[in-house]
Amino acid sequence: MTFGAFPILSTLEMVQAPLAPSVATSANYAAVPEALEAVRQRIRSAASGRTVQLVAVSKMKSAESVQAARDAGQAVFGESYVQELLAKALQVPQDVRWHFIGRLQSNKVKTLVESLPNLAAIETVTSTALADRIARVAAAVGRGSASTHTPALDVYVQVDTSGEATKNGVKPEETPALAEHIVTACGPSLRLAGLMTIGAPDDASCFDALVAARDAVTQRLALPAERIGLSMGMSGDFEEAIRRGSTSVRVGSSIFGARPTKGMSD
Ligand SMILES: *Cc1c(COP(=O)(O)O)cnc(C)c1O
Repeated sequence: MTFGAFPILSTLEMVQAPLAPSVATSANYAAVPEALEAVRQRIRSAASGRTVQLVAVSKMKSAESVQAARDAGQAVFGESYVQELLAKALQVPQDVRWHFIGRLQSNKVKTLVESLPNLAAIETVTSTALADRIARVAAAVGRGSASTHTPALDVYVQVDTSGEATKNGVKPEETPALAEHIVTACGPSLRLAGLMTIGAPDDASCFDALVAARDAVTQRLALPAERIGLSMGMSGDFEEAIRRGSTSVRVGSSIFGARPTKGMSD
């Protein structure tokens, strides 16, 4: 290792160390392009002609894994932990677009939004207070401002469709009010991109609940249904989610390999 040439690497590795205990070897990221292509094929056949976005979830995986996927044409990546995301983002090209998909503490919003110009979306907005905070920080860095030509930050309302105590998110019936708040009170720095859910394993009714919440939102805001995206579906259930209307799937282990246990941020 040439620490002399890249003095920052040792620091970054320390930042990542507790989150990525098994340092990726060339063997595990060499498999990424093929696994990615297989996931893309499965998305295409489940989508039968619709466009479905793939967010490649790289949490607890190395920057080399992200680089391998990006070199195979993947543009959008998801991460669940702010420190891990910021450390990794420094090690990969700035043309990747990041989605934050983890539980977001209000005191981390400033660091996240200020440090990451290529943050494309925060998928885990769970309160008006959090939306307001994100909007203020995003406005301060010029997101969505015509004079800076910087795109608005996409946000998704996270909906708890399973009613499990461990799951984060607003209740389905609270969703239209939060969505309306984002559209009417948060200003141009945010764009309401859609709704997101994790759901319960093996319970596809969670996906139907997100579709119903979306319909309630588009009715309340008088928007066409296509205007509000649905982020739902992970490695174990993305094809089912797509068949039930998902427009964006968040797939990690099927692309990058299994994570050490305790990988879910939620
Ligand atoms: C980890 C994670 C994923 C990806 O999970 P896989 O089962 O590895 O595909 C998707 N969404 C969220 C919110 C996650 O935390």
